[in-house]
Amino acid sequence: MLTNMGGCPEFYFGEEPDKVSWKLEKNNQFSVKSVYNGLTRNDAGPYHKRIWKGKIPPKIKFFMWLLTNDAILTRDNLLKRKWMGDACCLFCDSDENITHLFFQCPIAKVIWSIVAKCFGANNIPSNLQQCWKWCEIWIPYGEKYHPWGIAAICWAIWKNRNRACFEKKIIRNPLEIICHACALMNYWAGLFAENDKEQLEEGVATMLRIAKELLATQQKMGEGQQPSYKDQQEDEDDSA
Ligand SMILES: [Zn+2]
Repeated sequence: MLTNMGGCPEFYFGEEPDKVSWKLEKNNQFSVKSVYNGLTRNDAGPYHKRIWKGKIPPKIKFFMWLLTNDAILTRDNLLKRKWMGDACCLFCDSDENITHLFFQCPIAKVIWSIVAKCFGANNIPSNLQQCWKWCEIWIPYGEKYHPWGIAAICWAIWKNRNRACFEKKIIRNPLEIICHACALMNYWAGLFAENDKEQLEEGVATMLRIAKELLATQQKMGEGQQPSYKDQQEDEDDSA
């Protein structure tokens, strides 16, 4: 393996003591990172860059990989595994599946609409595959940030869905999920270099401001109307 990776030094015989140097690092010092990069440098496929090389925590990379492979345990997938339960989405009356939960559920649509507003996009993605293309179109110079943003939003939706499912913590407003996603983005911004990090934090603050303004306006317009989210019909004492 070392020879294949170019990590094995050339040998020569002399009087000097043996010395080992590692070719995959500039300073010739061994590092696990250089082994990983060496092993994966010829990897291809869109998800290699989008998931495994993304600046997101390892646990979230795995989550995104499951999401990509339609393997998150949404209710449709549970039913395929002989689970005996209700197929209904936790946020609305449609059946739950990955595309529905993350992109087509009314609550997901509000979230993506707010993201769209931040980037001046005039449409929203309707599934994960389209979401990557959507980012390429509307945020063309920020490719390295795409996994960071998409993963934060999807993970926030998933965590809030699980809280609704297992802890009966029902969200009353999509702003809760956006706040959660923004907190994740701020935290994960620390994985980037200092310049990028500052820019990202500014972007997150802007997104949060736009979200609050939009939802405050909507709330004013909708005062006195029946709430549109399933959660508001349930457990009114349960603050999130
Ligand atoms: Zn739904």
